[in-house]
Amino acid sequence: MPGSFRVFTLAGIDIRINLSWIIILLLLTVSLAAGWFPRAFPGYSSGTYFLLGLISSILLFASVLLHELAHSLMARARGIPVKDITLFIFGGVSNIEREPRSPGADFMIAVVGPLMSFVIGGICYALWYLITHQANNPLAAILLYLGATNLLLGIFNLIPGYPLDGGRILRAIIWRFTGNINRATSIAATVGQIVAFSFILWGIFLFFSGNGFGGIWIAFIGWFMLSAAQGARYQSTYEETFSHTTVEQVMSRNIILIPANISLQKLIDDYILPQGLRSAMITQGEQFAGLITLSDIRHIPREKWATTPVGFVMKPVSQLQVVTPNQSLRDVVTLLTSHNINQLPVVENGHLLGILSRDTVLRALEVRRSLGLNRPPEPDQTQRAEA
Ligand SMILES: [Zn+2]
Repeated sequence: MPGSFRVFTLAGIDIRINLSWIIILLLLTVSLAAGWFPRAFPGYSSGTYFLLGLISSILLFASVLLHELAHSLMARARGIPVKDITLFIFGGVSNIEREPRSPGADFMIAVVGPLMSFVIGGICYALWYLITHQANNPLAAILLYLGATNLLLGIFNLIPGYPLDGGRILRAIIWRFTGNINRATSIAATVGQIVAFSFILWGIFLFFSGNGFGGIWIAFIGWFMLSAAQGARYQSTYEETFSHTTVEQVMSRNIILIPANISLQKLIDDYILPQGLRSAMITQGEQFAGLITLSDIRHIPREKWATTPVGFVMKPVSQLQVVTPNQSLRDVVTLLTSHNINQLPVVENGHLLGILSRDTVLRALEVRRSLGLNRPPEPDQTQRAEA
C-alpha cells in the first residue's frame, strides 16, 4: 500500500502503518472523547476524555492487529509466507502472498480472525465484570468499549461477502463442494458486491436521515468492499481462463528472426528503424540464441555499431526466462507480472516458436471474453472418470 511505513516486527511479520490510519485514529479518539466517555464516565475534564479516547483507540487497533495476526500466523502455519500486516483507514490487512492450496486451509485462515475478535471481546467483558463492573471508573468504560467493539468486529467480519472473512469462509465451503477455487471466489465475490451495495445504500439512507458522518463512513466502507469484491471477481475470471489456456494458444507467431552475425548498424538500419522494433530475437543457425533490446544497444558507443556483431551484445538464451508452448497460461503469467518482464520467448527444442507478451495475453483474453469463451466447459464424463 503506498504511503505505508514499518513500525515494528512481530513474530517475524512486519507491522506497517498507512498514513490514512492516522486519520481514523484521530476521528475515533475525538468521537470517543466527545461521546462515549462523557456518557459512560461523567464529571471529568475534556483533557481526560481525550486521553481516554486515545488510549481506547490505540487498544482497539491493537485488537485489530491481533485479529490480523491470527490470520497471518495461521497462513504461515499452513506454509504460506506472509509479507506484512498493514493498518489503514478501514482497519487492518494481512498481506498473505498466495491463495491457500486447499479449502480446509482457506477456511482455517479466514475463521481464526473473527474467533480472535470474539476471544478479545470476551476477555474484556470478563475483566470488566470481575474487576470493575460496580465502579464508575475509566478502566470500566475502556473495557466495556473494547468488549462491545471486538464482538461487533467479529460479527461484522462474518458477513458472508468476499473480501470479508465470512466471504472467505463461504468461498472455502463452495470450494470444498465444487473443487474449483475460481468459481468459489467468483460466487463469494458476487455476494460481496451485493453486501457492499447494501452498505452504500444504507450509508446514503443514514446520510439523508440526519446521521451525516455515520452515513458517509458506512458508504465508504461499502465502496471499499465493492472495489475489493470486483477485483477478486475479475481475478478469478482471469485465472479460470488462464488455467484453461496454453501459451501456444495466445502467443504471437509474428516474429522476425535476426542472424547473430550481422552488425548492430545493420540491425538498426534494416530491422529496428523500418519496423519500429523495441527488441529483436536473435538466431544462430536454426537455434534461438538470445534477445537484444534498445537499451543493450545504447550501452555500446555509436562508433562501434558498424563493427560489433549482434550476437556479441545480445542477452544469451541461458540468461533469459523462456517458456514452452504447452505450459498453462496460469503458470507463466506470474512471470510476466512479477518479474517485470514484458515478453517471454516461447521455445521448444531450441527453436523459437513465438513470443508471449503482456499485450498478446490481454488481447487474447479480451477476444475470449467477448466470445464468451472464458467459462470452462461443465465437467464431462471423461473428467469425472479421471477424478
Ligand atoms: Zn479478518
